[in-house]
Amino acid sequence: MIDDITIQRILDTARIDEIVSEFVTLKKRGANFTGLCPFHNEKTPSFSVSPVKGIYKCFGCGKAGNAVNFLMEHEHISYPDALRWLARKYHIDIQEKEISVEEIAKRDERESLFVATTFAHEYFVDFLHKSDEGKAIGLSYFQERGFREDIIKRFELGYSSEKGDTFLNHALKNGYKKEILLKAGLINKGNFDAFSGRVIFPIHNLSGRVVGFTGRILKKEKSPVKYFNSPESDIFHKGKILFGLFLAKKSIADKDKCFLVEGNTDVISLHQSGIENCVASSGTALTNDQIALVKRFTKNITILYDGDPAGIKAALRGIDLLLEEGMHVKVVLLPDGEDPDSFSRAHSSSELFEFLEKEEKDFFAFKTKVLLKDAGKDPVKRSEVLNDIVRSLSLVPDNILRSLYIKECSRQLKVEEQLMHSEVAKRILSKRVDNYSYTRHAELISVQPHTPQLPSIVDDFYAELQEYEILRLIFRYGNDSIHTIIDKEDETKEINETVAQFIIQELLNDELELKNLVYQRVFIHFNEQLKQYGKVEPNEFVYHSDDEIHELAANLLSIPYNKARIKGQSDILSKYYKRIGIHVKTEDNQLKNNVSEVIIRYKIKVLEIARKDNTEKLTMAQESKAEENIINQLFMEINSLDLVLNQLYSIIGQVLTQQ
Ligand SMILES: [Zn+2]
Repeated sequence: MIDDITIQRILDTARIDEIVSEFVTLKKRGANFTGLCPFHNEKTPSFSVSPVKGIYKCFGCGKAGNAVNFLMEHEHISYPDALRWLARKYHIDIQEKEISVEEIAKRDERESLFVATTFAHEYFVDFLHKSDEGKAIGLSYFQERGFREDIIKRFELGYSSEKGDTFLNHALKNGYKKEILLKAGLINKGNFDAFSGRVIFPIHNLSGRVVGFTGRILKKEKSPVKYFNSPESDIFHKGKILFGLFLAKKSIADKDKCFLVEGNTDVISLHQSGIENCVASSGTALTNDQIALVKRFTKNITILYDGDPAGIKAALRGIDLLLEEGMHVKVVLLPDGEDPDSFSRAHSSSELFEFLEKEEKDFFAFKTKVLLKDAGKDPVKRSEVLNDIVRSLSLVPDNILRSLYIKECSRQLKVEEQLMHSEVAKRILSKRVDNYSYTRHAELISVQPHTPQLPSIVDDFYAELQEYEILRLIFRYGNDSIHTIIDKEDETKEINETVAQFIIQELLNDELELKNLVYQRVFIHFNEQLKQYGKVEPNEFVYHSDDEIHELAANLLSIPYNKARIKGQSDILSKYYKRIGIHVKTEDNQLKNNVSEVIIRYKIKVLEIARKDNTEKLTMAQESKAEENIINQLFMEINSLDLVLNQLYSIIGQVLTQQ
């Protein structure tokens, strides 16, 4: 039990921003902080922390509360344990009476596992530093490995006696039940210490509690198993833990980068050399949960590979998951025969820093190089390489980043960039399952809208590339003027408008919304700028507080728009409008053709998606023997779509490919 005065002291001392920062990277915004919500998955921050009010609130999922609520919710701990957590952090002494055996039994099992694990942890550390055996065997092993005293203490390394029941007897004497020791993996079924004769690497969770151990055997004859891990339990899930993250998280957030190594000793050696932003996957393939942990602090991950060619090829495959999660992956290849542990021990800190900086390569450039070297001149193997790279590229969710990677890979593979784009697009198309607004397209082509009767699941690579092109035009040429004359039946209108006005009007007229939400926000903002100043101000976005928006702006403004890339047809715009009853004359220049063609291609894409959607619905309707009027209506809609599509195709010289 904690007394009221102590509780009040804890609550007065705890700072919400400091607590949340232990788990989430926060950025200052005015009087508050914002960050990515740890309670729901999001790309743009809607999680806000107010130090003045002492509260947090997520505008995305609605979670809110004070520091204690945050810990309870985030760490899945009870109210008293959240208070204890805060007391530990702020070095506030809690006057609690000794926990009796009865009380231990009363706590739920999860808590008992924590208590037993903490008890074992303290025992292992004490045994290393205080017993003769610990000093002679455990400590001297760490010292031989070159670990400094402060590092041994920082990582809370320990040792478990060779005599097989020393820990068990100690624990029984202190009131721990065999049952819980067994569940925590501290003893085995034969009533022996599970970690006997091993040096101990404790594994902490994000909030700093020890949840398990890795033990390394020192004498081979004692056990054939070199490394032994705590078994899975209510508190220890190997796939949800990264060794070293608790100690590394602050440095990872500060440096905005995380080094990933394989072994625990790699992490410790790197720390000793001054590189603290590193974690270990402990020899297994990374899981989604582990990636999510890193992602809370940074998007940038650099993997340190041992210099063994066979191992590298196998490891390359493990990167896909990181790409899928939107991480920016780089790699460093160590010299042949070296691992991060041996390398950092053989070099000074400054040599290590210099090496990492110099040898850090972008993942795609690295992978392409490794695979190409392997394939040699064999054309079959080279096309396999292309496929492999395309598959990885298709996993990158950020299309701007993806475009940059495609550019680099196509250069290395000596393949045309456009071909690579379409191969990647095909991959994405065949994979992505998305709901697409059905009604909107029905309106677009003036067909009576109706609510779809069947689930609308369509495999679609939505018009993202086209959306990007549209924004690119507004960014680079938004304020250039286009002179248009519209002949409509008996009235003739002459319009002087800008590229931005033309594009925005085109989309608004057809009630089209960009599906990429970042693009759509920028688009809406452009429209507001137009209304307010009569022109667009792309530079405003460069300083936008939203990372995704200012990155997009920086990219759009730095890549020159290649006017020659889209083949300009003569007077596309006038042809387009002639067919739908409006006659438009335009000045014959490249820019205007490009603008109109980009818009047409975008509309084609939107209609193609609608057509595909309808075709699938039709198939489903036929298979499920749906009512005849539903089937007829779908037929009619596909026909109307084909009609408009054919008109648009003929303008840009394409033919309808039946699907
Ligand atoms: Zn949330």
